[in-house]
Amino acid sequence: MAYDGDEEQSQDYLFKIVLLGDSSVGKSNLLARFARNEFYPNSKSTIGVEFQTQKLVIDGKEIKAQIWDTAGQERFRAVTSAYYRGAVGALLVYDISRRQTFDSVGRWLNELHTHSDMNVVTILVGNKTDLKHAREVSTAEGKALAEAQGLFFMETSALDSSNVAEAFQTVVREIYRILSRKVF
Ligand code: GDP
Ligand code: MG
Repeated sequence: MAYDGDEEQSQDYLFKIVLLGDSSVGKSNLLARFARNEFYPNSKSTIGVEFQTQKLVIDGKEIKAQIWDTAGQERFRAVTSAYYRGAVGALLVYDISRRQTFDSVGRWLNELHTHSDMNVVTILVGNKTDLKHAREVSTAEGKALAEAQGLFFMETSALDSSNVAEAFQTVVREIYRILSRKVF
């Protein structure tokens, strides 16, 4: 049956994607917004999920993105190598209203490159664009850093949903593109 065939094929695509970035930049809320359309105004360190699997359709293919959250490990600079293992994509998040979190991006990139031996598709994400009056990092700065490091770039708001799905989709689409080029 053609329908069964499609289902079987869709199970071939499971991409592990990790969330990276300093504490409180909004990683857990980006995932909550993307996977459940929820937002937690007062969340502290952990919303409680280790990872969440979300289905996406790219080029008519159903793809499962298994998105890993740090569960607060980053607070203690103790993100384990198991967290990175097998990851093919990453969202490296900073908070546009806290420059310090942007200054940490290089450190997160080093860590990612230390723990993963393949080329992880990475998007640099400047979150909290709703905090217009508190902005400390310009869009141009974010874009320039992303270009220099060969990363995708997007600014998001988990609060008002802006660009959240787009950021995840960008990573998944690129992984799929690389993969289908290699296979066929
Ligand atoms: P994490 O430590 O990186 O996982 O960050 P959280 O998702 O726990 O968010 C930290 C704090 O920032 C929480 O109080 C969130 O409500 C808040 N937050 C997250 N995303 C946004 C956003 O896009 N805009 C605003 N204004 N606050 C946000
Ligand atoms: Mg969190």
